[in-house]
Amino acid sequence: MSTIRFQALKEASNRNPVKFEETDRKSTIFGSNVFNEKAMKQYLTSDAFKGVQGAVQHGTKIDRKLADYIAMGMKEWALSKGVTHYTHWFQPLTGTTAEKHDAFFETSYDGSDPVEKFGGAQLVQQEPDASSFPNGGIRNTFEARGYTAWDPTSPAFIFGTTLCIPTVFISYTGEALDYKTPLLRALTAIDEAATEVCKYFDKNVKKVTATLGWEQEYFLIDSALASSRPDLMMTGRTLLGHTSAKGQQLDDHYFGAIPTRALTYMRDLEQECMLLGIPVKTRHNEVAPNQFELAPIFEETNLAVDHNCLLMDVMQKVAERHDFKVLFHEKPFKGVNGSGKHNNWSLATDTGVNLLSPSKTPMSNLQFLTFFINTIKAVNDNEALLRGAIASASNDHRLGANEAPPAIISVFIGEQLTKVLDELEGVTAGKLSPEEKTDLKLNVVGKIPDVLLDNTDRNRTSPFAFTGNKFEFRAVGSTANCSNAMTTLNAIVGKQLRDFKKEVDALIESKDMKKDDAIFNVLREYIKQSKKILFEGDGYSEEWEIEAAKRGLSNFKTTPQALKARASQQALDLFSEMGIMNHIEVEARYEIELEEYTKKIQIEGRVLGDISKNHVIPTAIRYQNTLIENVKGLKDIFGTEFETIAKEQIILIKEISRHIEGINSKVEAMTNERKKANVLTDAQEMAEAYCDKVKPYFEIIREHCDKLELLVDNELWTLTKYRELLFTK
Ligand code: ADP
Ligand code: MG
Repeated sequence: MSTIRFQALKEASNRNPVKFEETDRKSTIFGSNVFNEKAMKQYLTSDAFKGVQGAVQHGTKIDRKLADYIAMGMKEWALSKGVTHYTHWFQPLTGTTAEKHDAFFETSYDGSDPVEKFGGAQLVQQEPDASSFPNGGIRNTFEARGYTAWDPTSPAFIFGTTLCIPTVFISYTGEALDYKTPLLRALTAIDEAATEVCKYFDKNVKKVTATLGWEQEYFLIDSALASSRPDLMMTGRTLLGHTSAKGQQLDDHYFGAIPTRALTYMRDLEQECMLLGIPVKTRHNEVAPNQFELAPIFEETNLAVDHNCLLMDVMQKVAERHDFKVLFHEKPFKGVNGSGKHNNWSLATDTGVNLLSPSKTPMSNLQFLTFFINTIKAVNDNEALLRGAIASASNDHRLGANEAPPAIISVFIGEQLTKVLDELEGVTAGKLSPEEKTDLKLNVVGKIPDVLLDNTDRNRTSPFAFTGNKFEFRAVGSTANCSNAMTTLNAIVGKQLRDFKKEVDALIESKDMKKDDAIFNVLREYIKQSKKILFEGDGYSEEWEIEAAKRGLSNFKTTPQALKARASQQALDLFSEMGIMNHIEVEARYEIELEEYTKKIQIEGRVLGDISKNHVIPTAIRYQNTLIENVKGLKDIFGTEFETIAKEQIILIKEISRHIEGINSKVEAMTNERKKANVLTDAQEMAEAYCDKVKPYFEIIREHCDKLELLVDNELWTLTKYRELLFTK
């Protein structure tokens, strides 16, 4: 009967690992499909090479003539590797990457002189037909079209037979239509602010780079099984399905041996990543069955974000070769853990210092404390904005779901650093006596390094944790483009560092203070002002929700609520002051994210209505008919005695009817709420209606369906079950 499910199960259970052999050692193939320094040195004239390096390191402009030379070298390199097409590769606000392929191949106007061509003009700027990308009203307002422009700080790469050129995507009036542009601006802003602060400690610092190391979690499901579930295919998650008798309660998957098919997939994937210069390093099982994690060595943030976007594409493509489907959704299955994407973040100087790493001397530890405390202050003052930056319909399932960080943003720093901050808080106001300074330097600031790395206990419930030499922003969703989180984090810390510098300079000038006196004084005040954000306890506990409310921390459990902070006056001021986004750009993003939320819930509602009415109910009726036949037969044989003999069947028949009625009435009620929501004109109101009026039906409808799954004959059930999705290896 339920042929698709059983065909899929047969297909999946007959699979063997695909044959795969590594072509070479990882280190020898690393980056060979990237137009990196080595390739540039080989294919570019020395002027062209210097031009690119200057643009990467100092943001100098590349003129048209130089661009022609660079394009020529790039083309020769690509042709030598069998490339036929090129594309501008960019990250529109749809959340996926976009590309439009053009062939190098060209002819003269009359079709003669066929030749491979690629000039500076094609490298530097393109105009994709951008009318169908989300723009939050930007283009409507300005009647402007969008164009893509080369981002030389992220090297071009080859995927398949296409040369991909990372680009920004902006409107002709200059507004950013993508994720990358604001990120690049935020990285410039934090570079400038952090470099100025570094000069208090080391005059030689000329550049500060924000670093990012993401950890990508995902599920790997057999492609035949995944295709047999319309909800997985349409929404990325299962909208119904009774939890499997065995889930993750035995903890037998985490760090266990990776199943052979999955391992072969990972080896193949890692080879692709190596060719593309993505420095993947770690792979392991995660907590839930069929859940895994992949993490690279950290990189400069813009490059790391590109690499994560690219990785998500590559993962899906490589999965096809291994008959897998990758699920990036934050909560594909009820009852087992969801997926996140921890964003490990730090700041590094061009002199090779990690600014969030404690070190050996008191002076460099004062530098560490400066960046450490400024980061805490930035998060303290902008917690709602940071929460808004990670809000999405799918991440709502995860935040606060007792497995992932709560929806309340707080900072965990560990016992040791808590003590250090307590001591710094007691620093005398004004000028410090020589004795106090010596004591501070020897006994407080000087003592940090010894025990710190071993002592940062891993508080897994904290959304923003200091882990020894970096902060780990754990609340980012597994489907997210890291840009949103990283643009916001670097913007708020950049702004904070800028303010810090002003305050310290003011003390030095007006109060005639020594530099380190002034620094101690400002840091002391910051510690006092940032108390509410520091939390060392259990972030999953109810007590924390109550405590956080008392402290005045926000606790936005849903995306429509959380998104408001994205376009608050504070956000508008911050982004424009830092030169990252103007008001139009900020408001456009807020609108787009609201719309995306609404659409996601709308699609889920439709798919759920469809599956429950067209799959679940017909199956339930079929089984109910079998039961009715059975009862009739028993009556024929046993006469009046049938009532006792067929008792259980009759109860089942009634129960099935009750659930069918439940599904029908709730789907109808949900559809009515959708209709009401659809006529609202305000994006915020519409998203709230979908959140508060439509979405609550999902669980109720699901419950009826999941009960029926338990009642109905397994042979008749059409939808692939949880145990089959989760435990097929
Ligand atoms: P885990 O958190 O799983 O125990 P690690 O502490 O080794 O593992 O690092 C996790 C991630 O943090 C890795 O992806 C790594 O690249 C990244 N990371 C380490 N140092 C930095 C840094 N200075 N800046 C940004 N990311 C970093
Ligand atoms: Mg981690």
